[in-house]
Amino acid sequence: MTMDNMPNDSTAGRTGNGLDRLITDRPSLPRIAVVATGGTIAGYSSDPAATVGYTAGALDVSELLDSIPEARKMADIVTEQPFSPCSENRTMNERFVLAKTIRRFAANPEIAGIVVTHGTDTMEETAYFLNLTLGTDKPVVLTGAMRPATAIGADGPANLMNAIATAISPDAAGRGVMVVMNDTIVPARSVTKGHTTRVDAFQAIGQSIGVLANGRPEFLLTPTKRHTTMSEFTELDESIGIPQVDIVSCYAEMSEAILETCLSCSDAVVLSAVGDGAFPRKLHPLVHALAGKMPVVRSTRVADGPVVRNGELNDDEYGTIAGNSLNPQKARVLLTLCLMKKMNTCDIIRCFGEY
Ligand code: GLU
Repeated sequence: MTMDNMPNDSTAGRTGNGLDRLITDRPSLPRIAVVATGGTIAGYSSDPAATVGYTAGALDVSELLDSIPEARKMADIVTEQPFSPCSENRTMNERFVLAKTIRRFAANPEIAGIVVTHGTDTMEETAYFLNLTLGTDKPVVLTGAMRPATAIGADGPANLMNAIATAISPDAAGRGVMVVMNDTIVPARSVTKGHTTRVDAFQAIGQSIGVLANGRPEFLLTPTKRHTTMSEFTELDESIGIPQVDIVSCYAEMSEAILETCLSCSDAVVLSAVGDGAFPRKLHPLVHALAGKMPVVRSTRVADGPVVRNGELNDDEYGTIAGNSLNPQKARVLLTLCLMKKMNTCDIIRCFGEY
């Protein structure tokens, strides 16, 4: 806790240190909303050594906050828990519901910022979705945990404290949706999960935009791609109908069968291609046929780096779209929103450059 966000409640004076007067002098605490959606941060196991095989999403949001009593001295916290399934089950429909909940809080002048607790498995998709669909410049911060709440060395309490500290920071406004994990602030566009179990699993493709030390956020960068108040997707909602956008993993010797299935089952396809957007030559005619029927984006299974237009494939000739530096799961989010806006190929190409 820092002097800037010291508590002013009656329990604070019991610490007996010289800061008590400062604490009680503060007129009011910033108000934030914590919106809980399950995940390991709310995970439970009867075995404190268990870091896998626990029940995710078992604890209520109030129990998460009870584990960090200091949080209520930093902020006046209102809570909501719209759903708590594991995030591998998260639907686009639920993401639209979540966006509505956050918009409602963001429209309240008394709310300074919003924290979302989320399963880490698809946190990056939800963060990027919210980055594109929320038209607010108030801080929106996602956090989670790699270890369940009951584990020795659980990381959830510190992550939640840091997320709250970030959400109440005036410096956080206007930087788009962020993920706070492991003392690091990462913008939604570049955050990705890079390890299955370790507490330092979350990384930035490119750079993080800030760090936390002593519970205090320090911002170093501002994201430059379009987001939140600069996004053209903020008016969308699920009533338009959500298209089926599929991701196809590419590898040498892949069969035609998956892409043939996409011809009849998908509304659009993201290729998780190899290298900078390549896939086996024998599939080129099929991709050409697919791109004649629906948008096909070339992304890559490589962790970092762009897929450049007309590089590995002549996109102009094949009708495909280069995914730029979005990973396949984020390309899928952007492509879904482009389809909901009924964009043509030119506009989709533009969006893959701008967002
Ligand atoms: N698979 C669960 C989820 O994504 C738990 C994983 C986690 O939160 O780390 O909700």
